[in-house]
Amino acid sequence: MMTIQGKGVSAGIGMGPLYFFRRAAAEAPCYTVQDAQAEWQRFKDAQAMAVEQLGDLAEKARAEAGDDAAFLFETHQMMAEDMDYEEAIEGVIREELLNAETAVSRACDQFVEMFASMDDSYMQARAADIRDVSRRILSILCGTVQGSIASDVPVLLAADDLAPSETIQLDKSKILGFITAGGSGSSHTAILARTMGIPAIVGVGDALRMEYEGRSVIVDGSTGAVFIDPDEDTTRRMTQRREEQVARQKMLETLKGQENVTRDGRSIRVYCNIGAPEDVDAVLANDGGGIGLFRSEFLYLNAETYPTEDEQFEAYKAVLTRMDGREVIIRTCDIGADKQIDYFDLPREENPAMGMRALRISLSRPDFFRTQLRALYRASAYGKLGIMFPMVTSVWEVREAKKLIERVKAELTQEGVPFSEHVQIGIMIETPAAAVMSDVLAREVDFFSCGTNDLTQYTLACDRQNNDLDRFYDPHHPAVLRLIRMVVENAHKNGIWVGVCGELGADLSMAETFLSIGVDELSVTPRAVLPLRRTIREANLIGKAQEILAALDRGTV
Ligand code: PEP
Ligand code: MG
Repeated sequence: MMTIQGKGVSAGIGMGPLYFFRRAAAEAPCYTVQDAQAEWQRFKDAQAMAVEQLGDLAEKARAEAGDDAAFLFETHQMMAEDMDYEEAIEGVIREELLNAETAVSRACDQFVEMFASMDDSYMQARAADIRDVSRRILSILCGTVQGSIASDVPVLLAADDLAPSETIQLDKSKILGFITAGGSGSSHTAILARTMGIPAIVGVGDALRMEYEGRSVIVDGSTGAVFIDPDEDTTRRMTQRREEQVARQKMLETLKGQENVTRDGRSIRVYCNIGAPEDVDAVLANDGGGIGLFRSEFLYLNAETYPTEDEQFEAYKAVLTRMDGREVIIRTCDIGADKQIDYFDLPREENPAMGMRALRISLSRPDFFRTQLRALYRASAYGKLGIMFPMVTSVWEVREAKKLIERVKAELTQEGVPFSEHVQIGIMIETPAAAVMSDVLAREVDFFSCGTNDLTQYTLACDRQNNDLDRFYDPHHPAVLRLIRMVVENAHKNGIWVGVCGELGADLSMAETFLSIGVDELSVTPRAVLPLRRTIREANLIGKAQEILAALDRGTV
């Protein structure tokens, strides 16, 4: 057995084979080979696997969508084994001594061209099929995972690092856990893992080696331990831990329907953070009181091009409808920094975290912003909507955004499209500038939500993505907490409420501090709702709140 230590960022025990995530190469590699027979066999193996995958897809399609849908995959199976197609590939491998990827790419181009030049429109359409089949074989040859995992059994997915766009596209039913060499606890991939309830360990560094692929592994998402080829004793201990976790979860379930109130009668709202309409399942299953942060940018990350107004409207409406009158706060698109999207065509930046991101993009591209605002207002007719803007630094930004909202409302009124007149408008407090200006900003909006992930990053000048800065990136830093306290005071003076939607909100050791400061709402990953409720219900702040505030005054929290 070998033990590797990383940082546990999403709790839970995962057990299964290790599988490495490989990125799709931009282009298939091209090289000469010496052993043509071995290369031909490589192709034949990949072809056989493609045929098998297509067979599975055909079966799934037949069960879920009928014979016509299944027929498509059966046709693809036949194409993958077509003799002419195979001959073209064999020729390149045996005669030109080129690798299988090059041979498949060439055969694909040749057949696409042939089909596309035919007069018959049915035959022309086969060009797309041959491209699809070739892509499947190529991805097997390159070992790439393209939104799916080429394994029949669920795996522990290892990677150097995973971008949020990669994580979101993975088939979650195939993942037992994440292990990454890089990454940090407040990276969006860690946040996604927590939302999905999948154990995750980041920052294991060089210790994670490709040669471990396929080996039996156990990960402990609480301690950050990765056991490769675990011995009997470890397996027994971990199995027991897993059972204890299940038992603890059962106990937490009894808190459903209970209030988030301390023994001395202080109450706080506990809402959820989500990234997709499907996450509402987890919100309801964990008895979240509302949604305090819907990261709308995941709709964009999960798409090939800008989601249309209608597509966004449907997504927002689905969330509002399912939340059935409970508050839903949707954050406008927060792209940029670590969440990059090719089709946004953003220029490369030296310092993306401090660059063109979030509200800055929305204000710089008013048409893009307008589409999202229209979708949001149309959806507002279906529930209790709040809209908030990310990464605010100046009062003028908020005023400009509000002006655009007024324009959108006027348009919808003129078009006779229904929307709610009671949408709450808020901002995220993620920059020291916004916190310092919170007395003025409080007069502009209905609520604040403290994004402690970025507030920590910008206050402490510490990149949240950089695992090496772990010791310095400290969300408990008194500078961060003093800013939050100041924001709460300014908000309450102006009669508006304040939430905390960064990862610190789910930190059980901070619940008493937030209650003492007077935070009105905590928005956390769905699985954190019940543990937080238990902590709140066990707290008694008589006498203690003063102590906590005094410590904050001294800067010793
Ligand atoms: C935050 O910065 O705390 C926050 C909630 O936003 P995100 O993590 O999506 O940047
Ligand atoms: Mg943020």
